Amino acid sequence: MSRANEDEKPAAEPDRRVGGGSDTRPGASDFIRAKVAEDLRSGRYSGRVVTRFPPEPNGYLHIGHAKSCCLNFGIALENDGVCHLRFDDTNPETEDIKYVESIKEDVRWLGFDWGDNLFFASDYFEKLYEYAVILIERGKAYVDSLSEDEIRAYRGTVTRAGKESPFRDRPIEENLRLFERLRAGEFADGEHVLRAKIDMASPNMLMRDPLLYRIRHASHYRRGDDWCLYPLYDFTHCLSDAIENITHSLCTLEFENNRELYDWVLDNVGIARPRPEQTEFARLDIDYTVLSKRKLIRLVEQGHVSGWDDPRLPTLAGLRRRGVPPEAIGAFCDMIGVDKVNSRVDIAKLEYAIRNDLNQRAPRVLCVLRPLKVVITNYPEGRVEQLDAPYWPHDVPKQGSRQLPFGREIFIERDDFMEDPPRKFFRLAPGREVRLRHAYVIKCDDVIKDSATGEVMELRCTFDPDTLRGLPEGRKVKGTIHWVSAAHALPCEVRLYDRLFRVPDPEDVADGEDFTAHLNPDSLVVLEDALIEAGVAVDPPGNRYQFERQGYFISDPVDSNPGSLVYNRTVTLRDTWAKIAARDGR
Ligand code: ATP
Ligand code: MG
Repeated sequence: MSRANEDEKPAAEPDRRVGGGSDTRPGASDFIRAKVAEDLRSGRYSGRVVTRFPPEPNGYLHIGHAKSCCLNFGIALENDGVCHLRFDDTNPETEDIKYVESIKEDVRWLGFDWGDNLFFASDYFEKLYEYAVILIERGKAYVDSLSEDEIRAYRGTVTRAGKESPFRDRPIEENLRLFERLRAGEFADGEHVLRAKIDMASPNMLMRDPLLYRIRHASHYRRGDDWCLYPLYDFTHCLSDAIENITHSLCTLEFENNRELYDWVLDNVGIARPRPEQTEFARLDIDYTVLSKRKLIRLVEQGHVSGWDDPRLPTLAGLRRRGVPPEAIGAFCDMIGVDKVNSRVDIAKLEYAIRNDLNQRAPRVLCVLRPLKVVITNYPEGRVEQLDAPYWPHDVPKQGSRQLPFGREIFIERDDFMEDPPRKFFRLAPGREVRLRHAYVIKCDDVIKDSATGEVMELRCTFDPDTLRGLPEGRKVKGTIHWVSAAHALPCEVRLYDRLFRVPDPEDVADGEDFTAHLNPDSLVVLEDALIEAGVAVDPPGNRYQFERQGYFISDPVDSNPGSLVYNRTVTLRDTWAKIAARDGR
């Protein structure tokens, strides 16, 4: 039997970028792992490795977060350490318990386990307040009563030193009393802030008396109205790390300048060594998509997509619904490595990792997306035979097959017929032969058209009964196409997803435009008249398949049910299509 449809071979593996360059030591695959290994060797943390994944519960996790999860949980696993899941929840206005739940679900789905180590920065509010009092007592923090605009104006620029606030030298006692009154809710939002007293001329703008606390009269999703005074990231994060005895605090490169402040806070509240240390790595950016919660929220809230789990989004919920296995995301993260320089990753690398995983995971079935009826005129009416069809190609070491019913009427893909084909079209055309996958060779004798529109409505073919098990010496039939039995196939809806944006870098926009201007209007094509082989009816929603010649699919975990089958395309079989395109001259 022809193997024409099994020629999808994984592409050559794209370059594996291993980060770190010169400071990568033998045995460590990137500069962060090398550092952890060095700390273990030197006994710096007495053999402890404690990392944390610290999402803010203000949106769904995306594949960039998966990179951070793989790094933090991965390093803990590799070194008998632990990784904490810590919600960095200090902003009452944007955070919500529904995001906490979705984040936990997504981290679990990726395959990571935080055990008992689930923490919330909002549980540290009391402790953080005490640390702030220590800073004030040491003359290292003061209550500033400038307005937000004034504070900004006083900060100076990269080339010009800032100006000290007139409130900077408030006596310690006054600061302490005021800070208490801030906590007690005696002031309105923005009336005062607490600032670190560092250096208004520092070349690092973040060191110019950064804000530590601000007043927000807003309900917190966990703490309710307990607090109206909220600590800011730079104060909270390092101290949360210290409270949890984190050893390696890994964050993305845009926090490089924050490291000085991270250390300053720990020094000045008196956290003893060994203490957590911040190391930065390159954030993940992928072509043709956006990885920023702020932008993803806009896409969801403005209705450009159907929700956080829209399969076109790079959210983990979206990727899951699209059919991407978590293992493929792990393999992708391994493939791109951890580096110290930001760069955009070619989306083809992600697609490669997905295909590579699904090749081993997804049984092959037949589904016709745009059906064209074929009547096999020499096949006896009423007769049905069951043809044995393996679920797996020869290069996947798995067993299993099903019976495909074959009868007089079948459907093939509309695209697989051309009335007037170019020279290298090896599928069906008037007078030509093609093999039906797992079945016979048929020949097209007649084309029935709609007399009004000229549209091809049906083909009349004949089959050759001697071609089921192969072809005699010397006889060649080049193409093999998929099909389903008209009497048995089940109707289904098929959703074909494409890249969400038309350009590799959607954030690169002209003045007055924004990234939504680059949305791909064809990112979703819904085919409502598809037909799939009947055997899949017993499978639960969420099952994955390869529809031969069409790609990898998942039965939609939300919308598909036995009475109404819906399939999402996870990824195309690019290699097959590239080959077809090349030989068809398309
Ligand atoms: P976004 O920019 O999407 O809003 P964020 O950094 O604000 O992301 P957090 O919830 O604060 O989101 O992130 C939790 C962790 O995930 C942080 O340690 C952060 O550095 C990491 N992270 C976020 N985005 C990426 C990314 N694109 N690549 C790698 N790590 C990321
Ligand atoms: Mg953040």
